[in-house]
Amino acid sequence: MRLANKVAIITGAGSGIGAETAKLFVAEGAKVHAWDVRPESLAALAKGVGDGLRTAVVDVTNRASIEAAVAQALQVDGKIDVLINNAGITADATLLKMEESAFDRVIAVNLKGVFNCSQAVARVMSQQQSGVILNASSIVGLYGNFGQANYAASKAGVIGMTRTMARELARFNVRVNVVAPGFILTDMTAKMPEKVLEMMKEKTPLKRNGTALEVAKAYLFLASEDASFITGQVLGVDGGLVV
Ligand code: NAP
Repeated sequence: MRLANKVAIITGAGSGIGAETAKLFVAEGAKVHAWDVRPESLAALAKGVGDGLRTAVVDVTNRASIEAAVAQALQVDGKIDVLINNAGITADATLLKMEESAFDRVIAVNLKGVFNCSQAVARVMSQQQSGVILNASSIVGLYGNFGQANYAASKAGVIGMTRTMARELARFNVRVNVVAPGFILTDMTAKMPEKVLEMMKEKTPLKRNGTALEVAKAYLFLASEDASFITGQVLGVDGGLVV
């Protein structure tokens, strides 16, 4: 068990990569606090997972709900070893057509949500003198993507924030890294036209799109002691799409 006695918080854990990561972390011995905005998805997740799972309805844009859930996690498990800032949304449109509200919404969840949760949890981790924070970026944050000015800006911002947090929190023995997935088959990509998914598959050197479990395994590595000297890094999980 690579996460025995560890306590992890995963945001946006109700579906996709977050849900797979929650299941994998529980299987590896962690106590997992799964946060999501949708109670129904948390209830569905809880059905398939054993004793190690706790759930809380948390909107990463709402600092009061984050503070309350951090306090609850500490009350139940006494510490927080890992935070995965996984919650994310898309609201695609070309630059010329994008509504200001779509830009603001994506930045609020994908970028400021990472700041909100990291700040609340880093206060605990700095006191503990230990911890790991892992953030969700995307290859789109490195290279841009048609129709995703808001999303690409948020994911590029997450990389800059990760590198800054890694520098600032190292003195408290807190590591901070970021994962940049390629095209992963989840509810988020299910919204995309089949043609685009096929095209991405063709462009990917490994000639397929990824699975949520493959990203979860990258989080597992970075959260574990196997990554004890790794901080401030961007780990691509993209089948070689960006080399
Ligand atoms: P997903 O299946 O849509 O899961 C995202 C989860 O976050 C959903 O359960 C969603 O709830 C939740 N969420 C949305 N807004 C939230 C908020 N304000 N507070 C808390 N939770 C919230 O997406 P995914 O594909 O697993 O993606 C997970 C992360 O990986 C995201 O940050 C995404 O940008 C990133 N990523 C994904 C891919 C990919 O190809 N799938 C590639 C690169 C990066 P609702 O269902 O109610 O919206």
